[in-house]
Amino acid sequence: MHAVVAIKQVPDTTNVRIDPDTGTLIREGVPAIVNPYDVHALEMAVRLKERFGGQVTVLTMGPPKAAEALIECVEQGADRAILLSDRKFGGADTLATSYVLAGAIEAIRAEGPVDLLLFGKQAIDGDTAQVGPGVATRLGVPLITYAIEIEAFDPLARTAIVHRRTELGVEVLETALPALLTVEKEIAAIARAPLPNLVRAARYRPEVWDAAQPVAFDAAKLGIKGSPTVVGRAFTPAAKAPGEQIEVAALGLPAVIERALTRLEAAGVLAAGPPSAGGPGGGP
Ligand SMILES: Cc1cc2nc3c(=O)[nH]c(=O)nc-3n(C[C@H](O)[C@H](O)[C@H](O)COP(=O)(O)OP(=O)(O)OC[C@H]3O[C@@H](n4cnc5c(N)ncnc54)[C@H](O)[C@@H]3O)c2cc1C
Repeated sequence: MHAVVAIKQVPDTTNVRIDPDTGTLIREGVPAIVNPYDVHALEMAVRLKERFGGQVTVLTMGPPKAAEALIECVEQGADRAILLSDRKFGGADTLATSYVLAGAIEAIRAEGPVDLLLFGKQAIDGDTAQVGPGVATRLGVPLITYAIEIEAFDPLARTAIVHRRTELGVEVLETALPALLTVEKEIAAIARAPLPNLVRAARYRPEVWDAAQPVAFDAAKLGIKGSPTVVGRAFTPAAKAPGEQIEVAALGLPAVIERALTRLEAAGVLAAGPPSAGGPGGGP
């Protein structure tokens, strides 16, 4: 069994600020972590390795500092870590990011079969949830988004049964392998890293792949040059004023409902209507 997990190093906060002049995230001074959904994706891969044998490869595209995130993944149980790092990759939007990750995965698949590709459902900084679907499309493999459980996994028959969350409930899907899953945190609870992993990670150095080798990427599809996305405007939303709190104990429930309805009508949320005979709740 060979699982490849794509991880992204992100600022350790969901409250990133945006530089109003450049429209980019202000990352300076914010500690970096592995994107939380990706940690759960990796945990799922490690569990499958424990059950079926094989290996787990993690890869990320990012600056040299992203090697720290990969080493954390080795602590968690990854066997091999690949850092895609080159100035030419800088400024990539999701189209250019998925181009590089798909190219790297193709190179890994050229070395030997890959059964499963695991991505987080979204990154907590970029938040687009586009990279996993973009990579699946480029590779032509089945895609299951918002995966919450792998009910069955058979690397020999090359099939899996996966549960995915939808707005209406849970879908249970059978897929051929290799497939790409973008995962929710429920996919696997995080276990404490065992000591041998920590020892191995302390000495581990990720492989670094650049824009020229081992994959000769098309320079026109990389970084800013290969990114058609234009950020029209980016801003930090103003903090909302606190809402009004009406104490039921002080006024009594009917008066509180009356006041709440008046406020909603004044705000234009409810159309003003004739007062009911017995006050709120006292109609026919
Ligand atoms: C014009 C432009 C310029 C930008 N420049 C930069 C920049 O210089 N630096 C920068 O960090 N961002 C930059 N971004 C943001 C960049 O597009 C996204 O961060 C990136 O493409 C991933 O998108 P996302 O964060 O929304 O990931 P999502 O699609 O929300 O992530 C889903 C999953 O995909 C995987 N994934 C996402 N990104 C990576 C990655 N890099 N490596 C491995 N796996 C990954 C993870 O498993 C993640 O959980 C730029 C965006 C635009 C539009």
